[in-house]
Amino acid sequence: MNLHEYQGKELLKKYGVTVQEGIVIEDTAEVESAYKKLQEETGTEFTVVKAQIHAGGRGKGGGVKLAKNIQELKEHSGNILGMMLKTPQTPGGMDGEGKLVRKILIAEDVYAPDFDANEEIYISILNDRAKKRNVIIYSTEGGMDIETVAEETPEKVFKEFVDPELGLLPFQSRKVAFNLGLSGTAFKGMVKFISKLYTAFTSTDASLFEINPCLKTGDDRILAVDCKVTIDDNALFRHKDIAELRDVHEEDPTEVEAKRYGLSYVKLDGNVGCMVNGAGLAMATMDMIKLYGGEPANFLDVGGTADAERVEQAFRIILQDPNVKAILINIFGGIVRCDRVAKGVVQAASNINIEVPLIVRLQGTNADIAKKIIDESGLKVESAILLKDAADAVSKAIH
Ligand code: GDP
Ligand code: MN
Repeated sequence: MNLHEYQGKELLKKYGVTVQEGIVIEDTAEVESAYKKLQEETGTEFTVVKAQIHAGGRGKGGGVKLAKNIQELKEHSGNILGMMLKTPQTPGGMDGEGKLVRKILIAEDVYAPDFDANEEIYISILNDRAKKRNVIIYSTEGGMDIETVAEETPEKVFKEFVDPELGLLPFQSRKVAFNLGLSGTAFKGMVKFISKLYTAFTSTDASLFEINPCLKTGDDRILAVDCKVTIDDNALFRHKDIAELRDVHEEDPTEVEAKRYGLSYVKLDGNVGCMVNGAGLAMATMDMIKLYGGEPANFLDVGGTADAERVEQAFRIILQDPNVKAILINIFGGIVRCDRVAKGVVQAASNINIEVPLIVRLQGTNADIAKKIIDESGLKVESAILLKDAADAVSKAIH
């Protein structure tokens, strides 16, 4: 689950990470009071209006604006709140339709007027699966596209791996500060920043923290100016407070609906709807579809039970996608018997109007009985025992 910048900053603050302060609002009527409050708390004269959407590169799209006084602040707030913000990361990129800005963060200006006095640093923490360790990736080249930095000047991107048994050791935080070329107050500030950030990362079961930029201010403070926070969905059950931060506006509505029914659904760009039990089998099924010249329209794991009701909900979810030209059901009957699943499929298929070709492959306990049930159902369904036959049938159906 992704958090908004303002939510991420609140979370970091709880762990003692220093951040650029701000107040989030949803209505331009709140601008003036937010401004006063922020001034009292931080003494800031200038402010920055920051669009709160789940996408980076907001600055490039006009979603981050500096205001030198209350008039400018009101003007920028009015322009940004409610706008369709296009950034390189919103769907369709700068040519897409953008994302509706429902909230803005009014933040203190933390940059020194002499822009050269500011140092924009890049810091992220994530899991390196190959190394089986968390890694801190950092660079002096913050504020810009880190992918470009990594490509053009890879020597400027550092990595610090953390032993899961030992955790982040003090010498490692010092190494980060040293490699970033910091000294004095800023050095000490960075050592603290990194160690607190790492604690926040592990304590919240995060899968990604990206602080870009992390700023060394003109007066040597270290602050998170921007943050992207992703929390591992599978750990949300033990972080109820974080789970409540979910913003469904930012998620695909069909995916949200699927979650309500306990279905694990991810929309993709192809035209073959898939209904599968088990994530591994779902991945294998998608591979087979591709191998036979199709493109999966979705990933859908119906889970272990695959009863009639679930299958029916899964059909409804898949059919919401107008690109779907055929549906492939691939279910392995291990705990659940294939004949029960087949009855479920027949029942669900007769309850809803399915106009696209349906190919069903049931394998496992009672697979032959299941095939008979499907074949004799009178529904326009093709059944197969082998996955390659099913994938082949799908390919013929869409071409
Ligand atoms: P992103 O474009 O979505 O990554 O949004 P960021 O939060 O990273 O902000 C983009 C840029 O806005 C930063 O790289 C800074 O150059 C600028 N910016 C952010 N906060 C401030 C601030 O307090 N003062 C000034 N002058 N510029 C800021
Ligand atoms: Mn940024």
